[in-house]
Amino acid sequence: QFPFGRRLPCDIYWHGVSFHDNNIFSGQVNKFPGMMETVRKITLSRAMRTMQDLFPLEYNFYPRSWILPEELPLFVAEVRVMKDSDPSWKPTFIVKPDGGCQGDGIYLIKDPSDIRLTGSIQSRPAVVQEYICKPLLVDKLKFDIRLYVLLKSLEPLEIYIAKDGLSRFCTEPYQEPTLKNLHQVFMHLTNYSLNIHSENFIHSDSVNTGSKRTFSSVLCRLSSRGADVKKLWSDIISLVIKTIIALTPELKVYYQSDIPSGKPGPTCFQILGFDILLMKNLKPMLLEVNANPSMRIEHEQELSPGVFENVPSPVDEEVKVAVIRDTLRLVDPQKKKRKDAHSSRSRLLQGKVGWSGVSSGASPAKPCVILCRRCPRLEHVPESSESLLDAVPAERPEPDAPRSPEAGLPSLCLKQVFPKYAKQFNYLRLVDRVAALFIRFLGVKGTTKLGPTGFRTFVRNCKLSNSNFSMAAVDILYIDITRRWNSMGIDHKEPGMCLQAFVEAFFCLAQKKYKSLPLHEQVLSLIEFCECHLAALDEKRLLWGWG
Ligand code: ADP
Repeated sequence: QFPFGRRLPCDIYWHGVSFHDNNIFSGQVNKFPGMMETVRKITLSRAMRTMQDLFPLEYNFYPRSWILPEELPLFVAEVRVMKDSDPSWKPTFIVKPDGGCQGDGIYLIKDPSDIRLTGSIQSRPAVVQEYICKPLLVDKLKFDIRLYVLLKSLEPLEIYIAKDGLSRFCTEPYQEPTLKNLHQVFMHLTNYSLNIHSENFIHSDSVNTGSKRTFSSVLCRLSSRGADVKKLWSDIISLVIKTIIALTPELKVYYQSDIPSGKPGPTCFQILGFDILLMKNLKPMLLEVNANPSMRIEHEQELSPGVFENVPSPVDEEVKVAVIRDTLRLVDPQKKKRKDAHSSRSRLLQGKVGWSGVSSGASPAKPCVILCRRCPRLEHVPESSESLLDAVPAERPEPDAPRSPEAGLPSLCLKQVFPKYAKQFNYLRLVDRVAALFIRFLGVKGTTKLGPTGFRTFVRNCKLSNSNFSMAAVDILYIDITRRWNSMGIDHKEPGMCLQAFVEAFFCLAQKKYKSLPLHEQVLSLIEFCECHLAALDEKRLLWGWG
């Protein structure tokens, strides 16, 4: 640790909260710029909505959501239409403040008129979402799953999923929501931070019982009930890949702004916490993505009134130690060298590791660094249960690889799912290509918003304007969409068109040009049209350059 600042460059920098150190020019940082902003409830809901517009069936794992206050009239109108068309529909909704965590400020409602509009909604925007009324229950209790996902690289996209996660249980038997029980948080909200205060909360030394268990132990139970655990895993993997595909466009805009290409800079990786709810029919639904999941392996115990002590939590330790250990194994800068050099086992993780503000929720800490030596405890982490290993085969070292320091460690708990399954998912990466166009026309390095000239240049270079669509109409489109997005007040700091506004404008242009096709085909056709014109332009420029 370097509590007073770091002087020497490191191989790996471990920041507690977010990417915040602009003085890093090499190595790897454990946070992506803009990740916190990208996974906030409103931004995530917007990104999922864009994907749901393009691919409604593929993205039906995210509950229907509306953004408050701006979409309140839309929410009221849509609910009315749905109720009129199906009078037996008795929905429940969950209101979640943007940027909230640990269940803070969340409440359930039966009718749009129950939204608490006094003060807070205006100052604190929120997401209102369809409440999943029929979750899968174990021991009559609602639970959710926290899965750890490593985004190892953005370009090329590399995703790993931990073979085991946590299941966090409610502490009151579940009943479908009624006006009487709507406010019972121990029945409806699975947050550990809330349920820990229930007198029914069970701390267990076993990973199979208690209010927090391993996901693998729940899978064992489900498997013994005859559930198709392999199918469930494959649905979860698909949910994770699709969610990250929805997030990458925005992340790429932040990335080029903080780490412009062509300049020396670090690369990034990040451990994300995926919160997933299983429906009664075993369909996994995404609740949220956490950019800064708690890595605590202890919990607080009240010894006597007001006297607390931190005690080890075996279930947290089993899951989280493996995630951190294997993340470091995967990003270990010495790994490549060792493969060639047959270096000795004791040199594992010899690289310097910069670690700052380790606890969740800490304020952006001053740089401080731990020189990480291998903790012997890590070797004793047991493997996950058989059923999980069956479903998600372990990654084993190549048989003829030289004996490395990793030889004595358990097989990796992190399984690569992308690019491994890229072929099945690449067709979904349309907005990524729209973001690449957006970034190309941003112009000024370090910016995340497109100015009117950039937008005009985009239209001109891609040959999108014609007698039916004049440059004056282009300017009006730019002004209309940009003004609306900026009035929603997410980021006032920088003027101009943000990525989501550009995506909306792009969809508009696609609909205009390819009227009769479904939206995703319209967008794909326009992307190909633009990419083709830009490639021709690049070629011409190259020739002129040579000339
Ligand atoms: P926070 O970040 O405050 O924890 P979440 O989105 O994770 O917010 O929601 C908190 C809890 O509320 C979840 O852990 C889950 O138990 C419950 N919950 C959230 N959204 C839904 C939903 N759409 N349907 C059913 N339960 C939900």
